[in-house]
Amino acid sequence: MTSTNVRVLLANRPVGAPTLKDFSIVEETPAALGAGELRIRGEWLSLDPYMRGRMNESKSYVKPVEVGAVMCGEVVGEVVESRHADFVVGDRVAGDLGWQTLPVSSGAGLRKLLPGVPPSAQLSVCGMPGVTAWCGLLLIGQPKPGETVVVSGAAGAVGGVVGQIAKLKGCRAVGIAGGADKCRHVVEDLGFDACIDYKAGRLREDLKAATPDGVDVYFDNVGGEILDTVLARMNPFARLPLCGLISQYNATLPYGLRNFRAVLVNRIKIQGFIVFDFKEHYPQAIGDLCGWLAAGKLQYRETIADGIRAAPAAFIGLLNGANLGKQLVRLG
Ligand code: NDP
Repeated sequence: MTSTNVRVLLANRPVGAPTLKDFSIVEETPAALGAGELRIRGEWLSLDPYMRGRMNESKSYVKPVEVGAVMCGEVVGEVVESRHADFVVGDRVAGDLGWQTLPVSSGAGLRKLLPGVPPSAQLSVCGMPGVTAWCGLLLIGQPKPGETVVVSGAAGAVGGVVGQIAKLKGCRAVGIAGGADKCRHVVEDLGFDACIDYKAGRLREDLKAATPDGVDVYFDNVGGEILDTVLARMNPFARLPLCGLISQYNATLPYGLRNFRAVLVNRIKIQGFIVFDFKEHYPQAIGDLCGWLAAGKLQYRETIADGIRAAPAAFIGLLNGANLGKQLVRLG
């Protein structure tokens, strides 16, 4: 094994928006494998908003990344060396292997790639973001044909799948995204009925026009002012799967909701969720998503940064909306 392992470490805990100084990049000569270990040559690294939370020290649903440790993240790659009984050289795998090019694994949490599905799609539409969309929308949102489903972050990895599933279930799908280009993509490429550019400054009026029958399901990826505005438009007995709060991840002062009264008046059901709460549903979710993908019923986009050294800037870009669809880093 002659190559070096290039790793991105957390250098500082950011206050507010992360900067390049919060990451450091190191090169290591790989050590010999221990018994039961395997080495993977990374091909794709997934960048996801949850990583911002892991950079903080505060208590959450998983432990933070330690300062000086490799950033967490899912990688797809090929086994290049193995002392593990269940993996041989040449196996294609995915797992939480961190921001690095030649990770070593004990095999725990590692899965073999599904045949016939593009490897990068196993980090997006057929991977964690797609499964998040499926579980949040179908298990919590429970949309019925003819209902109106609104989703924020609609041009992103999760939101883009939510609206497409809503259409497959016979609903009206309305997206909210930042900018005219993203909204055009959401309607023309992903097939939503409408998309509102929240950066245009007319969110309340545009939402009213796009949802003439009100909102039955709001799949929230962003929180803050957008959540507040949609709350006021929701119908009696509407459902609100609370998936993410990205507008708040860099905030030093949280946004205070003004329209929370709507939850009581309209008997809205809100449920926050983390995708791994639904592990028993993964096989069905992945089966549906891969089936729709193969049948041409699901479209997806990727924004690709080249090389592990580009990961910090790409991650900062993801938090600022620089991505269209799934943000990936090509490692190989
Ligand atoms: P995306 O691909 O949607 O990328 C993030 C997007 O967030 C950006 O492109 C940007 O789009 C949008 N954004 C950034 N800042 C703001 C803001 N202030 N207001 C509104 N939108 C903003 O990411 P994912 O699809 O991977 O994740 C979407 C959400 O789902 C995140 O909140 C994430 O944490 C959450 N999530 C939750 C999971 C769970 O288990 N609960 C699992 C996976 C994801 P734009 O240009 O449109 O502003």
